Amino acid sequence: MRPRRADNDRMADASKLRIAARATASKAAQAATVRASPHPHRPGSPASDTVTPAGQVLRVLRRIGPATRSELSRQTGFSLSAVNRVVGELLGCALLRDRPELTVGGVVGRPQIPLDLNAEAYFTVGVHVDEGRLRCVAGDLRGRALDRLVLDVPDTAQEALPVVGSALRRFRLAFPARCALWVGIVGDGRSDRRADRGCGPDWRDVADGAWPAAIPVPVTIAPHVEAMAARELQALELTGRPGPSSYLYLHVDEPFGAAWIVDGRIPVPRSGAGTIGHLATGSDVPCPCGRVGCLEVTVADRTLLATAVRDGALGPDAATRGIGALYAAAAAGAGHAAALLDSRADVVGRAVAMMRDIVNPDVVAVGGRGLVAYRPGREVLARSYARASALPPLPLTFSSFGERIGDAGALGASLSAVYTDPLGALRRRAARPSYDPAADRFCG
Ligand SMILES: [Zn+2]
Repeated sequence: MRPRRADNDRMADASKLRIAARATASKAAQAATVRASPHPHRPGSPASDTVTPAGQVLRVLRRIGPATRSELSRQTGFSLSAVNRVVGELLGCALLRDRPELTVGGVVGRPQIPLDLNAEAYFTVGVHVDEGRLRCVAGDLRGRALDRLVLDVPDTAQEALPVVGSALRRFRLAFPARCALWVGIVGDGRSDRRADRGCGPDWRDVADGAWPAAIPVPVTIAPHVEAMAARELQALELTGRPGPSSYLYLHVDEPFGAAWIVDGRIPVPRSGAGTIGHLATGSDVPCPCGRVGCLEVTVADRTLLATAVRDGALGPDAATRGIGALYAAAAAGAGHAAALLDSRADVVGRAVAMMRDIVNPDVVAVGGRGLVAYRPGREVLARSYARASALPPLPLTFSSFGERIGDAGALGASLSAVYTDPLGALRRRAARPSYDPAADRFCG
């Protein structure tokens, strides 16, 4: 990832549609891993985003569940002896476990004991900012949440670092049988002029040496929208649908953005990732970029709240109560509140259609808390998208994570290094200065 992104605002309109993006894993079946830290030399950033054979075995087991060595050989294309070697290493560091109770008898030769991910040995922590709160979520190797801490957001990333460190310590006490493995921080990922603020501290401000001093495990920093896209694609693969070769994800939330995943990778222009945030919508909302009617600022929560207060649909205290006040008013039958939310869904639907028509993906997915909090918005968005797209109909896929999409994406980021190079991740974990063999019995 590049440390700074080009300011594309003065470029032609088409370039505004370049997609906030980063490279991910190497094949469609290996998608759903966010490339880590924007700082190639920082602690926590992977040496490479190439998925190792051990990573491929973990990914197969994550996707299809318990499997024999023969099945792993079929799924990965590796020889049985190669699978045996990799499995031996993964069993040795407790990332896998045998599942003898699932052994099927009656086949010729010695029955094979199925293998499974060991979801009991480790925990990772995903960190993200949601509705002005810092959320630290502990999860297992499958990315399932175990526990959450919701904290105040410190003003700066430097101040946030020890907060994350103390959350990790609290999770360690809560899960004494698990080894703390990795922290994934989902950040804004954009350094250009944002149309909207409030997405948390800028983690790029943190000096390299401060990371290991504050957080005793390696850290991955992933751009927010891409982390959500990767996790959504992973969830899609779990449903058994064939992995799409081209997958477009729109994060209809804050931060607003899109990620386009092609064969497991997000194409990144040489000059840096772009943004759809400043796409012209025709609205009259002024944008910090100096123009009027940019997409992100037009659909921002605070814009809707300000409009609702100005028009008298909500009281003046609504701004402090957040967008939930508008959802509640719409649910209670306030026509103006519903109209504002419908109007936003309509604008978003048209933007989704425009992006879809340009990249023509196999799957178009949308996610964001607003799509859960205000369900009628989904239909408006879907109708607006269908009407505005000029290509043959392709129904929208709505997020499977609902309001907890932020937690899911952050946990996905915390696992991306493990599912890319598991043995390398454990080596780097053990190389941390604060590594404690007694407390971290698996991590060596
Ligand atoms: Zn703008």
